[in-house]
Amino acid sequence: MSNTPNANRRKFLRQASAAVAAIPVVSLVGMPAASAAEQAEDGHAHHYVNDAADSDHPDYAAGEKCKNCAFWGGGDAQWGQCFHAEFQGVQVNADGWCDAYVGS
Ligand code: SF4
Repeated sequence: MSNTPNANRRKFLRQASAAVAAIPVVSLVGMPAASAAEQAEDGHAHHYVNDAADSDHPDYAAGEKCKNCAFWGGGDAQWGQCFHAEFQGVQVNADGWCDAYVGS
């Protein structure tokens, strides 16, 4: 007989195991990766450019880059955080520049 207490118990344990095993998969679906922040494009704000050498802005001086700006919040070798209000939610290029640059 398949509806014995032991059979029901085995069925419950199989379903519970499957449910527990599925939790990590379900919890990862739809989660953005930590590194998925949007990257700023040229012209984002304040005449931003991803490569400071591309700037023809009169305030730009050679050697000024996001990675040595007071607003630079750190990141990896290429992209990082800028604490300036106009750059919230995007990463800026370490070699980028904008006219809000402040030497650090
Ligand atoms: S404020 Fe500084 S770190 Fe931010 S985008 Fe402009 S130059 Fe780069």
